[in-house]
Order: sequence, then structure tokens, then C-alpha cells
Amino acid sequence: MPELPDVEGFRRVARQATNHQVRDVRVHDEQVLRGISSDSFQRAVRRRYFAEPQRHGKWLLMPTTGAANAAAALPVVLLHFGMTGSLQWCPHDAELHQHDRVVFDFATGELRYRDMRKLTGIHLAREQEEVDDLLAELGPDAQQIEAAEFGKRLTRTRRRLKPALMDQSVLAGLGNLSADEILWRARIPPHRSTTELTADELDQLHREMRTMLRESVRAGRIPDGASWLTGHRDEPDRRCPRCSTALRRARVGGRSTLWCPTCQPG
Ligand SMILES: [Zn+2]
Repeated sequence: MPELPDVEGFRRVARQATNHQVRDVRVHDEQVLRGISSDSFQRAVRRRYFAEPQRHGKWLLMPTTGAANAAAALPVVLLHFGMTGSLQWCPHDAELHQHDRVVFDFATGELRYRDMRKLTGIHLAREQEEVDDLLAELGPDAQQIEAAEFGKRLTRTRRRLKPALMDQSVLAGLGNLSADEILWRARIPPHRSTTELTADELDQLHREMRTMLRESVRAGRIPDGASWLTGHRDEPDRRCPRCSTALRRARVGGRSTLWCPTCQPG
């Protein structure tokens, strides 16, 4: 499931279209367009240029302009990747994948929105107000939020820590894998109550989140190397990469959660 680092990876893919004119938009499955018909979407985007793409949490924003090298403008194409979405840059002659739902065609190649399950999709905002409305529920981006704000938002209500970290209205961008990875690095159990966290623990959590995101963003995904908890998720005999204790797995806040009972006691 795409989380902040994956969407950063998609942003890099989208940058290949920056300052290029959309020659055509092909909608292979109208179901992924939210609140707009194929015809209207094509009319709004065709012949426009994409400006530098931006990201907020798990959303990718692609502003369009009337000319190359113009400042970001309207309308804005907003993409969400749900559980299975991705963005691919392909040569014109690459065979269409069965889950390529929308294809933006440029002189230099094609940008393809690929999604198997179609849980979310593509929006078009014609005015800044529509962008703001779409993102209104989101908290600050997890890569940008400062420690004080992070602590304040996380402890606003009493709840288990892991679902609080994943709540996009608290902070935007973290998903199941990144939340487990951060908690393991910070040595705090996922079921700890938010209001029981000490100031030191909150600082530690924020620091580990920043480090984890920096390294993951570089990779364009959460790395599954041997020194990462994520790297051991699917092993039959899951052991902590730090202390070799057998990892525990249970549902916390409705999501499959992995943690080390030795490193994350309590
Ligand atoms: Zn451990």
C-alpha cells in the first residue's frame, strides 16, 4: 500500500512530465475519475503543460499551466493511490498494462496511472478552493511537521499510539509499514496510550520518524533490507534485526502490527 515514501517515488516519476505538453489524455477506465467525466477531464487537461508536482501526505498534486516553464497554476490534477495504485513512466510502444486506467501522452513518453483495486483515484480541481477542500481533512505532512506540533497533535486525544500515527487527520503520510518501523526504532510498543508518552518519548518518536522518512524517501519506498523491521515482515521465523527476539504480530487499531517485545516492552 503506497505510503509517503512511495508517493515521493511517484512524484519523481511525474517530474518527467514537468514542462511537457499533454498531447492527449486517454481514459481506459472512467471509474478512477472522481467527480468528473472523461470528456470534461480530457478537455481540461489536453494541450496544457504540467508544472512541478507536489506532495502532501499520500496525495500527489500536479498543477497545470498554459505554457512550459510557467509558475504552478490551475487546474490541478490530484492523484491518490489507495491500496494498489502507482504512477509509471513508459515509452509510447510499451504494451498497455491491464490496470493502466488513465494515460497522459507526451512527445517524450507516457505517464500512466495504474491501479488494480480502484479504491481512490484522480480528481481535478479547477480552483484553489477545490484543492483546499480535498485536502481539508489532512494534518500536516509527516516529513515537514516540527517536533512541538507533532507532540501536540499526537497527544490531543487519548488513544493507542499506532492508530494515532496512521490517522491522516493527525499527520499525513504514514501507513501501516512506516508506523511499525518508527515505533520499533523509537522502542515504544504500538498499543501504548498517546497520553502516557513522556516528552522524551515524543521527541524520540519524531526524530526516528524523520530519519526513517529521509532514508525511505531516498529509496522511493520503505526499504526491506536486513536492518529494517519491514525487511522481516514476511519471513516465516520473524526475528528482531536488533536483538533476535521472536517478533510479535497482532492487530492493533485494526491493522496487522509487528513489534519486538524485548525492544518495545510494555
Ligand atoms: Zn528487539
